[in-house]
Amino acid sequence: MTHPTVSDVVRACDALWPPEYAESWDTVGLAVGDPTAEVRRILVALDPVDADLDEAIAGGYDFLLTHHPLLLRGVTSVHAGTLKGGAVHALVRAGVAAFNAHTNADSAVGGVSDALADVLDLQDRRPLVGTPGAPEGTGLGRVTTVPAGASATVLSVARTLAAELPPTITGVRIAGDPEAPVSTVAVLGGAGDSLFDAVRASGAEVYVTSDLRHHPATEARDTAARGNGTPHLIDISHWAAESLWLEPAADALSAALDANGFDVGIEVSRTVSDAWTVRIDQGTERTDFTGGAGRE
Ligand SMILES: [Zn+2]
Repeated sequence: MTHPTVSDVVRACDALWPPEYAESWDTVGLAVGDPTAEVRRILVALDPVDADLDEAIAGGYDFLLTHHPLLLRGVTSVHAGTLKGGAVHALVRAGVAAFNAHTNADSAVGGVSDALADVLDLQDRRPLVGTPGAPEGTGLGRVTTVPAGASATVLSVARTLAAELPPTITGVRIAGDPEAPVSTVAVLGGAGDSLFDAVRASGAEVYVTSDLRHHPATEARDTAARGNGTPHLIDISHWAAESLWLEPAADALSAALDANGFDVGIEVSRTVSDAWTVRIDQGTERTDFTGGAGRE
């Protein structure tokens, strides 16, 4: 068996996570690399941050597949003294190609959204926002339902996430009523505060997403309170939520390259690129802060 080239790996990735399903604002594909270069080892990671670049370079990998883009916006310089320029120089010097599948991997069947929904093991999955022109089931986020006869609450969903997600300092947080019953759950890996309208339209009682900022979260809860109280919110680590995709992505890419007769090693990064590293707890464990900010 022969080793694939960078362009062979790109072709396999594009078949798994078609770039045409990426959002219009997004950047996906090959950012750094020689299409004709041989690839013996691939590293799959969430972020093209320095720790992951160092892991790829020091580990002797030829191809770094990440979820998030190295270069999201247009660049006019890759001057090595800049953050991104320095990364490009380091990759080129080491002969490591950098490729990413971002919102196209979020949307794909079996992609980032499905990897997160899999943790909750619920039924009747559909996209929160379907991708126009894409096969059924493709789109951002997932809406999924609790089986008839089973009971779930906001707290039980949060506890399942806490048990199944890779541990992070920020843990799992709830906005709303922990004891509220749940029959429909909306999930979105990554920053989900732009999709509240779709979540409300889905009828989900709870919305699981990441990076919920103060104003969108408080306004979403006020909007909920003026209606039937839903959706309650569960905020999880962006890194933890999306890193669930890394193993299935590596498996899918490995199977695709193997089916094409290529010999290549694929490994998942061990780097934790969650930004937060320390938390100072402020008192006894509580699951309901609705009584106000006072200490017990
Ligand atoms: Zn993300």
